[in-house]
Amino acid sequence: MTVRLIDGRACARELKHQVAAEAKDLREDGMRCGLATLSVGEEFSAAAYQRRLLRVSEELDIAYRHRHLPGDAGLDDVLGTIARLNADPEVSGILVLRPLPPHIDEKVVFRALDPLKDVEAVHPENAGLLALGTPRYVPSTAASVYHLLDTWLDSVGEDRADFYHRSLIVVVGRSNNVGKPAVSLGYARQAAVESIDEWASRTVGIGRHTRRADVLVVAAGRPGLIRAEHIREGAIVLDVGINPWTDPETGTVHMVGDVDFESTAPRAWGITPVPGGVGPITDVWLVRNTVTAARNLAGRPDPRRNP
Ligand code: NAD
Repeated sequence: MTVRLIDGRACARELKHQVAAEAKDLREDGMRCGLATLSVGEEFSAAAYQRRLLRVSEELDIAYRHRHLPGDAGLDDVLGTIARLNADPEVSGILVLRPLPPHIDEKVVFRALDPLKDVEAVHPENAGLLALGTPRYVPSTAASVYHLLDTWLDSVGEDRADFYHRSLIVVVGRSNNVGKPAVSLGYARQAAVESIDEWASRTVGIGRHTRRADVLVVAAGRPGLIRAEHIREGAIVLDVGINPWTDPETGTVHMVGDVDFESTAPRAWGITPVPGGVGPITDVWLVRNTVTAARNLAGRPDPRRNP
């Protein structure tokens, strides 16, 4: 089997051109577009994500601001910051970086977001719209998985609709921010979809589910969870996992996925690397949602474009 790499960086470059052009049109039409992130406490992955968003916003010429609160900030401080960002006319999209400290109830924080500025679709209104198949915003990670897959299917000459109608998509991981939206987007493509969480995996063994997948989406946050014996020959594997791993010899921290790439790639038809797979698209997609939000706030959505 010839393995084909599913190259997220190339796909992200293409998407960046589109989003940059949309952002430019928006500015020329006098609409204001800006992304704001909020973090609470010191957390390695939140800080890394924040730096990536700063970089991509600069590249795409989108206003960006970051609000940081100390780890002992109270819920009122967090809600006060959200209220100011909701009211700020320069901000069209707000992202609350996770994880929040345990004493902050993220459900309360998400409910405080202006749904029109909630570009990760974490507010119940937006999560509900997505579950109903009529999304206002598609959460960036799940959107990136399918954008990458759709683009790759085109590149190998597959008819997308036919492919999805005959395929089983298995999603490993059932979080509200990644796994569940990935299931909803599979339904939206009229594929058969199966969702696996830690309990299913522990009870019957993960391979019983994953070996049936035509498309395996892995978002469990467990480095090396999926190995060659867990996939069927010819499956497409999309690895969402980003896990810090410290090289014991050098002490350097690297990012690794949930899939053991070396053993799995030879059995796969297509596979994403980590880094360089889903991750690069996620950042651009969030900015894309921020552009969409600017249009929604101005009451001028673009009717030609899917969310
Ligand atoms: P999470 O911890 O919120 O959820 C993990 C899910 O995986 C849970 O449903 C859990 O039950 C399930 N799970 C854990 N172990 C499992 C196992 N052995 N078998 C089956 N299911 C198992 O994590 P998350 O926020 O959904 O993130 C998942 C991974 O994706 C992390 O590595 C995270 O860093 C990464 N991530 C990447 C991007 C990106 O842009 N590529 C964006 C967000 C998250």
